Amino acid sequence: MNVHAPLTSIRSDFPGLVTAEGQPWHYLDTAATAQKPQAVIDATIRAMGADYATVHRGVYARSADMTLAFEAARMRVAKFLNAERVDEIVFVRGATEGINLVAQSWGGVNLEPGDRILLSQLEHHSNIVPWQLIAERTGAAIDVVPLTEDGRIDLDAMAAMIRPEHKLVALAHVSNVLGSVLDVKRAARIAHDAGALLLIDGCQAAPRMRIDVQALGCDFYLFSGHKLYGPTGIGVLWARHAILADMPPYHGGGAMIDKVTFERTTYAPPPARFEAGTPAIVETIGLAAAIDYVDAIGLDRIAAHEDVLVARTRDALRGINSVRLLGPEDAAGIVSFAMDGVHPHDIGTILDESGVAIRAGHHCAQPLMTHLGVEATARASFGLYSDESDVEALLKGLDRVRAIFG
Ligand code: PMP
Repeated sequence: MNVHAPLTSIRSDFPGLVTAEGQPWHYLDTAATAQKPQAVIDATIRAMGADYATVHRGVYARSADMTLAFEAARMRVAKFLNAERVDEIVFVRGATEGINLVAQSWGGVNLEPGDRILLSQLEHHSNIVPWQLIAERTGAAIDVVPLTEDGRIDLDAMAAMIRPEHKLVALAHVSNVLGSVLDVKRAARIAHDAGALLLIDGCQAAPRMRIDVQALGCDFYLFSGHKLYGPTGIGVLWARHAILADMPPYHGGGAMIDKVTFERTTYAPPPARFEAGTPAIVETIGLAAAIDYVDAIGLDRIAAHEDVLVARTRDALRGINSVRLLGPEDAAGIVSFAMDGVHPHDIGTILDESGVAIRAGHHCAQPLMTHLGVEATARASFGLYSDESDVEALLKGLDRVRAIFG
Protein backbone atom coordinates (compact mmCIF):
# COMPACT_ATOMS: atom_id res chain seq x y z
CA MET A 1 0.00 0.00 0.00
CA ASN A 2 1.25 3.49 -0.78
CA VAL A 3 1.07 5.18 2.59
CA HIS A 4 1.66 8.56 0.95
CA ALA A 5 -1.37 8.35 -1.35
CA PRO A 6 -3.65 11.27 -0.40
CA LEU A 7 -6.82 10.40 1.45
CA THR A 8 -9.09 12.06 -1.07
CA SER A 9 -12.82 11.29 -1.33
CA ILE A 10 -12.93 10.45 2.36
CA ARG A 11 -14.49 13.73 3.43
CA SER A 12 -17.82 12.77 1.92
CA ASP A 13 -18.01 9.88 4.42
CA PHE A 14 -18.36 12.45 7.22
CA PRO A 15 -21.68 14.31 7.35
CA GLY A 16 -20.31 16.48 10.18
CA LEU A 17 -17.80 18.17 7.91
CA VAL A 18 -20.27 20.64 6.41
CA THR A 19 -21.82 23.73 7.95
CA ALA A 20 -25.57 24.20 8.43
CA GLU A 21 -25.45 26.18 5.16
CA GLY A 22 -23.90 23.22 3.35
CA GLN A 23 -20.45 24.83 3.11
CA PRO A 24 -17.24 22.87 3.88
CA TRP A 25 -16.40 23.12 7.56
CA HIS A 26 -12.70 23.26 8.35
CA TYR A 27 -12.71 21.13 11.44
CA LEU A 28 -9.32 21.26 13.13
CA ASP A 29 -10.37 19.99 16.54
CA THR A 30 -10.10 16.26 15.99
CA ALA A 31 -7.86 15.88 19.06
CA ALA A 32 -10.86 16.96 21.16
CA THR A 33 -13.25 14.61 19.40
CA ALA A 34 -13.35 13.16 15.90
CA GLN A 35 -16.19 13.51 13.42
CA LYS A 36 -17.97 10.25 12.65
CA PRO A 37 -18.07 8.44 9.32
CA GLN A 38 -21.50 7.43 8.00
CA ALA A 39 -20.55 3.76 8.54
CA VAL A 40 -20.33 4.39 12.29
CA ILE A 41 -23.55 6.38 12.35
CA ASP A 42 -25.33 3.60 10.40
CA ALA A 43 -23.96 0.91 12.71
CA THR A 44 -25.19 2.73 15.81
CA ILE A 45 -28.61 3.37 14.28
CA ARG A 46 -28.95 -0.34 13.44
CA ALA A 47 -27.77 -1.31 16.91
CA MET A 48 -30.27 1.09 18.49
CA GLY A 49 -33.07 0.07 16.11
CA ALA A 50 -33.64 -3.21 14.34
CA ASP A 51 -30.88 -5.07 16.22
CA TYR A 52 -31.46 -3.62 19.68
CA ALA A 53 -31.66 -5.87 22.74
CA THR A 54 -29.74 -6.33 25.96
CA VAL A 55 -26.59 -8.42 26.20
CA HIS A 56 -25.41 -11.32 28.35
CA ARG A 57 -28.85 -11.94 29.87
CA GLY A 58 -31.61 -12.49 27.36
CA VAL A 59 -32.78 -16.00 26.53
CA TYR A 60 -34.31 -14.87 23.25
CA ALA A 61 -32.55 -14.88 19.89
CA ARG A 62 -32.21 -11.09 19.47
CA SER A 63 -30.36 -10.79 22.76
CA ALA A 64 -28.13 -13.75 21.91
CA ASP A 65 -27.31 -12.07 18.58
CA MET A 66 -26.58 -8.76 20.27
CA THR A 67 -24.36 -10.54 22.81
CA LEU A 68 -22.42 -12.10 19.95
CA ALA A 69 -22.02 -8.69 18.28
CA PHE A 70 -20.98 -7.08 21.58
CA GLU A 71 -18.36 -9.74 22.29
CA ALA A 72 -17.24 -9.60 18.65
CA ALA A 73 -16.53 -5.90 19.28
CA ARG A 74 -14.28 -6.93 22.17
CA MET A 75 -12.42 -9.31 19.85
CA ARG A 76 -12.17 -6.50 17.30
CA VAL A 77 -10.54 -4.22 19.88
CA ALA A 78 -8.18 -7.01 21.04
CA LYS A 79 -7.02 -7.48 17.46
CA PHE A 80 -6.71 -3.72 16.93
CA LEU A 81 -4.34 -3.46 19.92
CA ASN A 82 -2.72 -6.86 19.28
CA ALA A 83 -3.67 -7.94 22.79
CA GLU A 84 -2.62 -11.45 23.71
CA ARG A 85 -6.07 -12.28 25.13
CA VAL A 86 -9.57 -11.00 24.45
CA ASP A 87 -10.35 -10.92 28.19
CA GLU A 88 -7.67 -8.25 28.59
CA ILE A 89 -10.09 -5.76 27.00
CA VAL A 90 -12.26 -3.91 29.52
CA PHE A 91 -14.96 -1.61 28.16
CA VAL A 92 -15.19 1.67 30.04
CA ARG A 93 -16.88 5.01 29.33
CA GLY A 94 -13.65 6.54 28.10
CA ALA A 95 -9.99 6.97 28.96
CA THR A 96 -10.93 9.10 31.98
CA GLU A 97 -12.99 6.33 33.52
CA GLY A 98 -10.31 3.77 32.62
CA ILE A 99 -7.56 5.69 34.42
CA ASN A 100 -9.80 6.19 37.45
CA LEU A 101 -10.51 2.45 37.40
CA VAL A 102 -6.80 1.58 37.45
CA ALA A 103 -6.01 4.22 40.06
CA GLN A 104 -8.78 3.14 42.45
CA SER A 105 -8.67 -0.61 41.86
CA TRP A 106 -4.97 -1.32 41.25
CA GLY A 107 -3.79 1.66 43.30
CA GLY A 108 -6.17 0.87 46.16
CA VAL A 109 -4.47 -2.47 46.86
CA ASN A 110 -0.93 -1.78 45.62
CA LEU A 111 -0.09 1.65 47.03
CA GLU A 112 0.79 2.47 50.61
CA PRO A 113 2.50 5.31 52.47
CA GLY A 114 6.05 5.71 51.13
CA ASP A 115 5.12 4.52 47.63
CA ARG A 116 5.35 6.94 44.72
CA ILE A 117 3.69 7.44 41.34
CA LEU A 118 5.57 8.97 38.43
CA LEU A 119 3.72 11.23 35.96
CA SER A 120 5.01 13.75 33.42
CA GLN A 121 4.70 17.50 33.09
CA LEU A 122 2.58 17.23 29.93
CA GLU A 123 -0.18 14.94 31.19
CA HIS A 124 -3.86 15.60 30.60
CA HIS A 125 -5.77 16.27 33.84
CA SER A 126 -7.36 12.85 33.47
CA ASN A 127 -3.90 11.31 33.92
CA ILE A 128 -3.14 13.52 36.94
CA VAL A 129 -6.23 13.95 39.09
CA PRO A 130 -7.12 10.23 39.45
CA TRP A 131 -3.59 9.67 40.79
CA GLN A 132 -3.92 12.57 43.21
CA LEU A 133 -7.18 11.08 44.48
CA ILE A 134 -5.65 7.65 45.12
CA ALA A 135 -2.43 9.16 46.48
CA GLU A 136 -4.49 11.04 49.04
CA ARG A 137 -6.39 7.85 49.95
CA THR A 138 -3.31 5.64 50.29
CA GLY A 139 -0.62 8.04 51.47
CA ALA A 140 1.41 7.62 48.25
CA ALA A 141 3.22 10.59 46.68
CA ILE A 142 3.55 11.85 43.11
CA ASP A 143 6.69 12.86 41.21
CA VAL A 144 6.83 14.58 37.85
CA VAL A 145 9.15 13.80 34.93
CA PRO A 146 10.25 17.05 33.23
CA LEU A 147 10.15 17.75 29.50
CA THR A 148 12.94 18.24 27.01
CA GLU A 149 13.34 21.67 25.45
CA ASP A 150 11.28 20.66 22.42
CA GLY A 151 8.43 19.35 24.53
CA ARG A 152 8.96 15.62 24.90
CA ILE A 153 8.82 13.60 28.09
CA ASP A 154 12.49 13.50 29.10
CA LEU A 155 13.26 9.79 29.39
CA ASP A 156 16.87 10.43 30.45
CA ALA A 157 15.50 12.42 33.36
CA MET A 158 13.00 9.66 34.07
CA ALA A 159 15.78 7.05 34.14
CA ALA A 160 17.75 9.24 36.55
CA MET A 161 14.87 9.92 38.94
CA ILE A 162 13.01 6.59 39.11
CA ARG A 163 13.46 4.67 42.35
CA PRO A 164 12.14 1.40 43.84
CA GLU A 165 9.46 3.45 45.65
CA HIS A 166 7.89 4.21 42.28
CA LYS A 167 5.23 1.55 41.85
CA LEU A 168 3.62 2.95 38.71
CA VAL A 169 4.50 5.33 35.89
CA ALA A 170 1.63 6.90 33.92
CA LEU A 171 2.46 8.74 30.69
CA ALA A 172 0.74 10.00 27.53
CA HIS A 173 1.69 8.21 24.31
CA VAL A 174 1.01 11.41 22.36
CA SER A 175 0.60 14.81 24.04
CA ASN A 176 -2.83 16.34 23.36
CA VAL A 177 -1.24 19.79 23.37
CA LEU A 178 2.19 19.39 21.75
CA GLY A 179 1.70 16.23 19.69
CA SER A 180 5.00 14.89 21.04
CA VAL A 181 5.29 11.13 20.75
CA LEU A 182 6.65 9.03 23.61
CA ASP A 183 9.12 6.22 23.03
CA VAL A 184 6.91 3.77 24.93
CA LYS A 185 9.31 0.84 24.57
CA ARG A 186 12.10 2.76 26.25
CA ALA A 187 9.76 4.12 28.94
CA ALA A 188 8.64 0.52 29.62
CA ARG A 189 12.23 -0.68 29.97
CA ILE A 190 13.06 2.13 32.39
CA ALA A 191 9.89 1.52 34.44
CA HIS A 192 10.32 -2.25 34.55
CA ASP A 193 14.02 -2.06 35.42
CA ALA A 194 12.97 -0.10 38.50
CA GLY A 195 10.16 -2.56 39.30
CA ALA A 196 7.33 -0.19 38.33
CA LEU A 197 4.36 -0.80 36.04
CA LEU A 198 3.75 1.49 33.05
CA LEU A 199 0.34 2.88 32.17
CA ILE A 200 -0.01 4.57 28.78
CA ASP A 201 -2.74 7.10 28.02
CA GLY A 202 -3.24 6.37 24.33
CA CYS A 203 -6.09 8.83 23.69
CA GLN A 204 -4.18 10.79 21.05
CA ALA A 205 -2.14 7.86 19.73
CA ALA A 206 -4.79 5.22 18.97
CA PRO A 207 -6.43 7.38 16.25
CA ARG A 208 -3.16 8.18 14.50
CA MET A 209 -0.67 5.34 14.82
CA ARG A 210 -0.67 1.56 14.87
CA ILE A 211 -0.75 0.26 18.44
CA ASP A 212 0.70 -3.11 19.41
CA VAL A 213 0.49 -3.39 23.17
CA GLN A 214 2.67 -6.50 23.26
CA ALA A 215 5.46 -4.84 21.27
CA LEU A 216 5.18 -1.59 23.26
CA GLY A 217 5.77 -3.51 26.48
CA CYS A 218 3.51 -1.39 28.70
CA ASP A 219 1.18 -2.84 31.34
CA PHE A 220 -1.97 -0.72 30.88
CA TYR A 221 -3.15 1.08 27.73
CA LEU A 222 -6.21 3.29 27.40
CA PHE A 223 -8.10 5.13 24.72
CA SER A 224 -11.47 6.78 24.11
CA GLY A 225 -13.78 5.69 21.28
CA HIS A 226 -14.93 9.20 20.37
CA LYS A 227 -11.42 10.28 19.39
CA LEU A 228 -11.13 7.20 17.17
CA TYR A 229 -14.10 8.21 14.95
CA GLY A 230 -16.47 6.21 17.18
CA PRO A 231 -19.23 7.20 19.59
CA THR A 232 -18.87 8.97 22.93
CA GLY A 233 -19.48 6.95 26.08
CA ILE A 234 -17.22 4.05 25.15
CA GLY A 235 -13.53 3.57 25.76
CA VAL A 236 -11.05 0.80 26.31
CA LEU A 237 -8.78 -0.25 29.11
CA TRP A 238 -6.29 -2.92 28.12
CA ALA A 239 -4.15 -4.51 30.81
CA ARG A 240 -2.06 -7.65 31.06
CA HIS A 241 -4.26 -10.51 32.17
CA ALA A 242 -2.21 -11.36 35.25
CA ILE A 243 -2.53 -7.76 36.46
CA LEU A 244 -6.29 -7.55 35.80
CA ALA A 245 -6.86 -10.91 37.48
CA ASP A 246 -5.38 -9.53 40.72
CA MET A 247 -7.36 -6.28 40.68
CA PRO A 248 -10.50 -5.90 42.83
CA PRO A 249 -13.77 -4.57 41.35
CA TYR A 250 -14.11 -0.84 40.80
CA HIS A 251 -17.89 -0.62 40.62
CA GLY A 252 -20.37 -3.12 42.05
CA GLY A 253 -23.64 -4.21 40.50
CA GLY A 254 -25.11 -6.60 38.00
CA ALA A 255 -23.01 -8.56 35.52
CA MET A 256 -19.78 -8.37 37.51
CA ILE A 257 -20.53 -11.08 40.06
CA ASP A 258 -20.03 -14.77 40.44
CA LYS A 259 -22.40 -15.35 43.40
CA VAL A 260 -24.19 -12.87 45.63
CA THR A 261 -25.46 -13.49 49.14
CA PHE A 262 -25.89 -10.96 51.90
CA GLU A 263 -23.08 -12.69 53.73
CA ARG A 264 -20.53 -12.76 50.92
CA THR A 265 -20.29 -11.91 47.23
CA THR A 266 -17.74 -13.36 44.84
CA TYR A 267 -16.81 -11.71 41.58
CA ALA A 268 -16.63 -12.71 37.95
CA PRO A 269 -13.20 -12.96 36.31
CA PRO A 270 -12.02 -10.03 34.16
CA PRO A 271 -13.24 -8.30 32.10
CA ALA A 272 -16.80 -8.81 33.50
CA ARG A 273 -15.53 -8.01 37.01
CA PHE A 274 -14.94 -4.43 35.87
CA GLU A 275 -18.10 -3.98 33.79
CA ALA A 276 -20.88 -3.58 36.33
CA GLY A 277 -24.34 -2.81 34.98
CA THR A 278 -25.80 -2.83 31.49
CA PRO A 279 -22.94 -1.81 29.22
CA ALA A 280 -22.88 0.83 26.48
CA ILE A 281 -24.21 -1.68 23.95
CA VAL A 282 -24.86 0.70 21.06
CA GLU A 283 -21.64 2.62 21.55
CA THR A 284 -19.58 -0.56 21.67
CA ILE A 285 -21.03 -1.71 18.35
CA GLY A 286 -20.25 1.77 17.02
CA LEU A 287 -16.66 1.53 18.23
CA ALA A 288 -16.18 -1.76 16.38
CA ALA A 289 -17.51 -0.09 13.22
CA ALA A 290 -15.07 2.80 13.74
CA ILE A 291 -12.16 0.39 14.08
CA ASP A 292 -13.27 -1.38 10.90
CA TYR A 293 -13.37 1.98 9.13
CA VAL A 294 -9.95 3.11 10.34
CA ASP A 295 -8.37 -0.26 9.65
CA ALA A 296 -9.76 -0.31 6.10
CA ILE A 297 -7.88 2.94 5.43
CA GLY A 298 -4.85 1.81 7.40
CA LEU A 299 -3.21 3.54 10.36
CA ASP A 300 0.10 3.81 8.51
CA ARG A 301 -1.63 5.83 5.80
CA ILE A 302 -3.46 7.96 8.34
CA ALA A 303 -0.19 8.68 10.17
CA ALA A 304 1.62 9.58 6.92
CA HIS A 305 -1.29 11.79 5.84
CA GLU A 306 -1.38 13.70 9.14
CA ASP A 307 2.44 14.06 9.11
CA VAL A 308 2.22 15.91 5.79
CA LEU A 309 -0.44 18.29 7.12
CA VAL A 310 1.50 18.94 10.34
CA ALA A 311 4.69 19.68 8.41
CA ARG A 312 2.86 22.00 6.01
CA THR A 313 1.19 23.87 8.88
CA ARG A 314 4.36 24.19 10.92
CA ASP A 315 6.29 25.46 7.89
CA ALA A 316 3.68 28.10 7.19
CA LEU A 317 3.36 29.20 10.83
CA ARG A 318 7.13 29.47 11.13
CA GLY A 319 6.96 32.18 8.49
CA ILE A 320 4.73 34.37 10.67
CA ASN A 321 6.79 36.56 13.00
CA SER A 322 4.20 36.89 15.72
CA VAL A 323 3.62 33.14 15.99
CA ARG A 324 5.38 31.01 18.59
CA LEU A 325 5.27 27.37 17.54
CA LEU A 326 5.10 24.84 20.37
CA GLY A 327 6.04 21.19 20.39
CA PRO A 328 8.55 19.11 18.45
CA GLU A 329 9.02 19.06 14.67
CA ASP A 330 7.78 15.49 14.42
CA ALA A 331 4.56 16.13 16.36
CA ALA A 332 1.78 13.67 15.60
CA GLY A 333 -1.40 15.23 14.21
CA ILE A 334 -1.35 18.29 16.49
CA VAL A 335 0.05 21.83 16.11
CA SER A 336 -0.15 24.18 19.08
CA PHE A 337 0.89 27.80 18.85
CA ALA A 338 0.69 31.18 20.53
CA MET A 339 0.47 34.58 18.83
CA ASP A 340 2.04 37.72 20.30
CA GLY A 341 -0.56 40.08 21.69
CA VAL A 342 -3.56 37.93 20.78
CA HIS A 343 -5.39 35.71 23.23
CA PRO A 344 -5.95 32.19 21.85
CA HIS A 345 -9.69 32.60 22.46
CA ASP A 346 -9.70 35.61 20.11
CA ILE A 347 -7.82 33.54 17.52
CA GLY A 348 -10.44 30.81 17.89
CA THR A 349 -13.36 33.22 17.62
CA ILE A 350 -12.02 34.96 14.51
CA LEU A 351 -11.21 31.62 12.88
CA ASP A 352 -14.72 30.41 13.64
CA GLU A 353 -16.09 33.35 11.64
CA SER A 354 -13.98 32.02 8.75
CA GLY A 355 -15.43 28.51 9.06
CA VAL A 356 -12.35 27.12 10.81
CA ALA A 357 -12.74 25.28 14.13
CA ILE A 358 -9.68 25.09 16.36
CA ARG A 359 -9.33 24.61 20.10
CA ALA A 360 -8.18 27.45 22.31
CA GLY A 361 -7.53 27.02 26.00
CA HIS A 362 -5.49 25.04 28.48
CA HIS A 363 -6.52 21.73 26.90
CA CYS A 364 -6.98 20.16 30.35
CA ALA A 365 -3.21 20.37 30.82
CA GLN A 366 -2.70 23.29 33.21
CA PRO A 367 0.67 22.06 34.57
CA LEU A 368 1.93 22.02 30.97
CA MET A 369 0.64 25.57 30.41
CA THR A 370 2.58 26.64 33.52
CA HIS A 371 5.70 24.99 32.10
CA LEU A 372 5.20 26.74 28.74
CA GLY A 373 4.61 30.06 30.49
CA VAL A 374 1.24 30.62 28.86
CA GLU A 375 -2.35 30.50 30.09
CA ALA A 376 -3.62 28.93 26.93
CA THR A 377 -2.62 27.91 23.43
CA ALA A 378 -4.33 27.75 20.06
CA ARG A 379 -4.36 24.17 18.77
CA ALA A 380 -5.05 22.85 15.30
CA SER A 381 -5.45 19.08 15.22
CA PHE A 382 -5.88 16.87 12.20
CA GLY A 383 -7.74 13.71 11.40
CA LEU A 384 -7.84 11.26 8.53
CA TYR A 385 -10.36 13.52 6.75
CA SER A 386 -8.29 16.72 7.09
CA ASP A 387 -6.73 18.09 3.91
CA GLU A 388 -4.83 20.99 2.34
CA SER A 389 -8.00 23.07 2.16
CA ASP A 390 -8.17 23.02 5.97
CA VAL A 391 -4.57 24.22 6.24
CA GLU A 392 -5.22 26.96 3.66
CA ALA A 393 -8.36 28.07 5.52
CA LEU A 394 -6.43 28.15 8.80
CA LEU A 395 -3.69 30.31 7.26
CA LYS A 396 -6.20 32.66 5.64
CA GLY A 397 -8.02 32.95 8.95
CA LEU A 398 -4.76 33.79 10.71
CA ASP A 399 -4.16 36.54 8.13
CA ARG A 400 -7.49 37.99 9.27
CA VAL A 401 -6.45 37.69 12.93
CA ARG A 402 -3.27 39.63 12.15
CA ALA A 403 -5.16 42.25 10.16
CA ILE A 404 -7.61 42.78 13.03
CA PHE A 405 -4.94 42.89 15.74
CA GLY A 406 -2.48 44.86 13.63
N1 PMP B 1 -5.81 11.95 27.73
C1 PMP B 1 -5.58 12.69 26.65
C2 PMP B 1 -4.18 12.80 26.13
C3 PMP B 1 -6.64 13.34 26.01
O1 PMP B 1 -6.40 14.07 24.91
C4 PMP B 1 -7.94 13.21 26.53
C5 PMP B 1 -9.12 13.93 25.91
N2 PMP B 1 -8.87 15.27 25.61
C6 PMP B 1 -8.13 12.42 27.66
C7 PMP B 1 -7.05 11.81 28.24
C8 PMP B 1 -9.48 12.21 28.25
O2 PMP B 1 -10.32 11.53 27.37
P1 PMP B 1 -11.87 11.42 27.64
O3 PMP B 1 -12.34 12.78 27.98
O4 PMP B 1 -12.42 10.90 26.36
O5 PMP B 1 -12.05 10.44 28.77
